[in-house]
Amino acid sequence: MTIHHHLNDDTLMAYVAGTVSESMSFVIATHLSLCATCRNKVKEMEKIGAVALEDETPLAMQSGALDMIMGMLDDNFDVESTPPANDRASSTLPMPLRQFLPDDLDQIQWRNMAPGIKTFPLPEIKAGNGAVRLLKISPGVTIPEHGHCGAELTLVLKGSFSDEVGRFKAGDIADLDEDTNHQPIADTSEDCICLIVTEGPLKFKALMPRLMQYFVGM
Ligand SMILES: [Zn+2]
Repeated sequence: MTIHHHLNDDTLMAYVAGTVSESMSFVIATHLSLCATCRNKVKEMEKIGAVALEDETPLAMQSGALDMIMGMLDDNFDVESTPPANDRASSTLPMPLRQFLPDDLDQIQWRNMAPGIKTFPLPEIKAGNGAVRLLKISPGVTIPEHGHCGAELTLVLKGSFSDEVGRFKAGDIADLDEDTNHQPIADTSEDCICLIVTEGPLKFKALMPRLMQYFVGM
């Protein structure tokens, strides 16, 4: 699997700092389970973050803040324990999805959403104000142009789509902020199946700009 579209650095930073919700974290971890490039970035950021935390502690952090942040990091899905997707021959699904879905995507009980668009919600994953769901888009069908109230992550599991940003195939992730409008179209003769999370972004905590500085300063 060759991946051309990755998570943005600020999304990865927020993931490492523990400021993304469980639902965003889930979709990020699913991409990470497929993508060595982003996994390596996360490792680098975790190293830098640990140094930044040590430096920051005596100056600005209130008592208990470090424990709180470390607790938030623990809440993230554990990438280290997520082996590559192809380690179990019976399933083509990325590891984090396997507990929620049948091995064969064709066995999913899809619900009709619009002509040529079916959906399968994943309410087990806490989503705050947004939602985690699968979408199945029939060949040639376009999702009407839309913006977002918050961030949107779209991970392609099967097939492909094209939009204003480019062409997205299996493993690729579209990492869009609320300023982006787009109009994806399933662009082959195969159904396009995506994992999508939409949500309003959480406010950065005061630590984030510091972490960002360390990363950008590399
Ligand atoms: Zn990636």
